[in-house]
Amino acid sequence: MSRITNHLPTAELQALDAAHHMHPFTAGAQLAEKGARVITRAKGIFLTDSEGHEILDAMAGLWCVNIGYGREEMAEVAAAQVRELSYYNTFFQTTHVPAIALAAKMAELAPGDLNHVFFAGSGSEANDTNIRLVRQYWARKGQPERRVILSRWNGYHGSSMGSGSLGGMKPIHAQGGMPIPDIHHIGQPDWWSEGGEMSPEDFGLMRARALEAKIKEIGPGRVAAFIGEPVQGAGGVIIPPASYWPEIQRICDDYGILLIADEVITGFGRTGQWFGSEAMGIRPHIMTVAKGLSSGYAPIGGSIICDEVADVIAGDEFNHGYTYSGHPLAAALALENLRILEEERVVEHVRNTANPYLAVKWAQLTDHPMVGEAKLCGLMGSIALTPDKSRRAAFAAGEGKVGYLTRERCFANNLVMRHVGDRMIIAPPLVITTDEIDLLIARAWTSLDEAMAKAK
Ligand code: PLP
Repeated sequence: MSRITNHLPTAELQALDAAHHMHPFTAGAQLAEKGARVITRAKGIFLTDSEGHEILDAMAGLWCVNIGYGREEMAEVAAAQVRELSYYNTFFQTTHVPAIALAAKMAELAPGDLNHVFFAGSGSEANDTNIRLVRQYWARKGQPERRVILSRWNGYHGSSMGSGSLGGMKPIHAQGGMPIPDIHHIGQPDWWSEGGEMSPEDFGLMRARALEAKIKEIGPGRVAAFIGEPVQGAGGVIIPPASYWPEIQRICDDYGILLIADEVITGFGRTGQWFGSEAMGIRPHIMTVAKGLSSGYAPIGGSIICDEVADVIAGDEFNHGYTYSGHPLAAALALENLRILEEERVVEHVRNTANPYLAVKWAQLTDHPMVGEAKLCGLMGSIALTPDKSRRAAFAAGEGKVGYLTRERCFANNLVMRHVGDRMIIAPPLVITTDEIDLLIARAWTSLDEAMAKAK
């Protein structure tokens, strides 16, 4: 076989890809109909594909490339780390400088007494760790019957058996044996789709109180923890009504259950604060992080754990770990990424410049006949597509058809936006400039116009 490089014709790359590469969350039929888009390089907020298109990546990859693509400093750190210590593990009383330095930095950045880090290779692995961690915590506190973890329908916490069970994505559950025992779900705070005639604030309270009802139903002595994303990402950028999180916090406090904030998307500046928990005013015992921790330059995730839980767990051996927990290359890249975020004041850029600028333009999208609501938190946003705004109506074509069509028009206009059903979502790199925001919005308008014309 000839060497496979960027220089091969696109059709040849696509044929090899279709023959040998199984893609996550992609239907084989879609690949057969139209080969995968081949991305060859990326810089800043732009991707280049094998046909030379310059594509504005309004999803920061998979919500992760917070500092933008192709940073020289990151390349240098990677090369130096490989030369110095390419791998060693953190099992059996061993450690290394990148893991020490990164854990200390994460403890410094995380709010309150979230001072302890257990590393993983991804968000899914970190949430699997959390299941073990909270059950072990209660067992060591003499309450082993506290095993149940509560979560939300349409939440996303990863794709392994454990994290996929924590998530509330029915198509994932349908693929075999999920949820695993002792994980239960309550309704999500999605007012647009499920709020009916209620005000958003009343609906938010109602959905939060479903947690209390569920705790009572299961028995307070059996519930170990509640997990939620401060803002649901993969579920469609569902920004909860302001009434929601304070009531969840109250319920967790009243029943003494652990609160886990899944910050895999919302961590490291996405909401305009370092963590979504700060934006939503909650005090989690554990945070799940990944993605923006390294801006996607290396696979790394982790759980940031409060003093009390860490003390209980550290009292005896925690029989858990991954070969790549705290991998030195990933840790060094994450550390450099955090240095860039801090020194370039990227979180302040989101809060003071990019979000206020985008907020105005994003809200104006509701002037488009097909856009019902436009929501934005920091730099994660969604618009709801509808044929009739006054009724928040769904399309006759069936859920997700117009969303898919709109995503395809975005691709054609060199813009990556994702669709979740008939919501279009964005989460651009946090370093996006105001000029780039203008370009994003212009391409989105064109794509919406084209999709509407085609949907008729
Ligand atoms: N948690 C949340 C909130 C996520 O959005 C994701 C991924 O999108 C995960 C967990 C899983 O992370 P990973 O894909 O790194 O396993």
